Amino acid sequence: MIAVEHLAGCRAAVFGLGGSGIATAHALAAGGTEIVCFDDDRARVEGASDQGLPTADLRVADFAAFDALVLSPGVPLTHPAPHWTVERARAAGVPVLGDVALFDAERRDRLPDMKLAAITGTNGKSTTTALLGHVLSALGASAQVGGNIGRPVLDLDPVPGAAVVEVSSYQADLAPDLAADVGCLINLSPDHIDRHGTFEAYAAVKTRLVANARQAVIGVDDGCAAIADRLARHGKPVRRIGVFDDLAGLAALGPAGVGAVGEALYAVEGGAARLVGSLAGIASLRGAHNAQNAAAAVAMAMALGHDAAAAAATLAGFGGLAHRMEEVGRDGCVLFVNDSKATNAASALPALSSFERIHWIAGGVAKEGGVASLAPSAPRIASAYLIGEAADLFERQLAGLVPVVRCGTLDAALEAAATAARREGGVVLLSPACASFDQFRSFEHRGDAFRALVQARLNRESA
Ligand code: ADP
Repeated sequence: MIAVEHLAGCRAAVFGLGGSGIATAHALAAGGTEIVCFDDDRARVEGASDQGLPTADLRVADFAAFDALVLSPGVPLTHPAPHWTVERARAAGVPVLGDVALFDAERRDRLPDMKLAAITGTNGKSTTTALLGHVLSALGASAQVGGNIGRPVLDLDPVPGAAVVEVSSYQADLAPDLAADVGCLINLSPDHIDRHGTFEAYAAVKTRLVANARQAVIGVDDGCAAIADRLARHGKPVRRIGVFDDLAGLAALGPAGVGAVGEALYAVEGGAARLVGSLAGIASLRGAHNAQNAAAAVAMAMALGHDAAAAAATLAGFGGLAHRMEEVGRDGCVLFVNDSKATNAASALPALSSFERIHWIAGGVAKEGGVASLAPSAPRIASAYLIGEAADLFERQLAGLVPVVRCGTLDAALEAAATAARREGGVVLLSPACASFDQFRSFEHRGDAFRALVQARLNRESA
């Protein structure tokens, strides 16, 4: 744990008592801050109290008595409307902060040998964060991984080395002064507009993270090229990253960066490109989107002082993350892939672009637009096996494009898809393009269920 000492003797209200809120409360208390914890959910307040954390009903508290409101990233700061704690703090002139801001201030105060690599972007944050953690560890460097990816930042150990931290837009919003040693903006596309008001506001929050970093790594593929240009013009050391069709594309990286051309990775230094590695045969980094993530991880490793070729050589040992194009079984030539994290059409696209002849299991609670945008993937889809509430909509949207089998549940869909794949060959892919809440607790629960069903089926077959 990293005790938050820079607020010692202050009073802070801690609102939001999920995993990161509880860790933050402990870190503040350990550093000598007088805290009061609260949540709109009574069970969470009781849980915090059971852990010995002081709790009180903030609805009746005098906010003027606090020096800070420490907010969980899941709690609205601005949109659709500021949470009532935010309104009360603002009215009392009390600053509102998140755990990443506390972590960074503490690190800069007392832990100068702890280097922060902060990663944000619309897609690929968790993969890139885990990948950089892997690369640094494989290079023999000390690295800890945390933030939005799971382990709260204030739970990290206060030791020298790299802290590789995934920063969501909500966390970035609550950490306006975050000054990473290397900040990465992988890509930008409209997302979470409900929580930031406009795309411009969402982009501004993410841009600030790289603008305030000592060195920046910025994707040039999706809407960020202008940000990279602007920061470079202002003298910021920038490494650009991108995925290109041919070597000529590498010119977009300018004087420094990392680019993928097909499966080959090139590092550009002083405007000169050199081949530093290959992604060929690395199952956990299949697809152009993962080439972008790999380029980002190698560029950040370079910013932290490592050789690009040495960093690239470690990529093959990356095991991948659960629920993101995760291989969960193989039956002869049929591969089973769990991409349960794909909760909308845009995030299902990379998986649908990474395989040929796909037996596609999709459905759940549809997002706006359904799967209409996935029509260009139709030639790769052998059949769609639909589950959950979205079945009616998806059947209509896919009519005439791909054969559709309505299955209702995940187990029925797996049976139907696996039987067809065994007959015709191909990949059985769960990439639902939907939220999971009609049939599962979370995308993790859905992916775990799929993995267990596949394993049970493979065990049955081999018995
Ligand atoms: P995040 O943490 O930003 O949500 P993840 O690394 O968890 O991203 O990946 C989630 C899904 O997003 C993946 O299953 C994949 O479909 C898609 N994805 C991953 N990386 C990228 C990328 N660089 N560009 C676009 N889509 C991506």
